[in-house]
Amino acid sequence: MNWKTDLQVGDLDRNQKLEFMCKKCGHTHYITTEQAAAAPGAKFLYLDELEQKSRCPARGCGSPVRLAINYQKKMTGFVGGMA
Ligand SMILES: [Zn+2]
Repeated sequence: MNWKTDLQVGDLDRNQKLEFMCKKCGHTHYITTEQAAAAPGAKFLYLDELEQKSRCPARGCGSPVRLAINYQKKMTGFVGGMA
């Protein structure tokens, strides 16, 4: 299973940090899911599509980036429901 083709931007927590590392210059930048989803239709992008659309923001670079996230499944909500 590849989480990049499995998950859409809208599936992630709004505050989830997305890490983009430039494949060329190594510049790393972070945005939150909320920021990533701000563009029209971006919520429905799969993460691999988001990765392909993203470019290094470093001046004069603009190269493809690699996306990484610390994805933690939330375990709460399914436990602790004992009345
Ligand atoms: Zn770069």
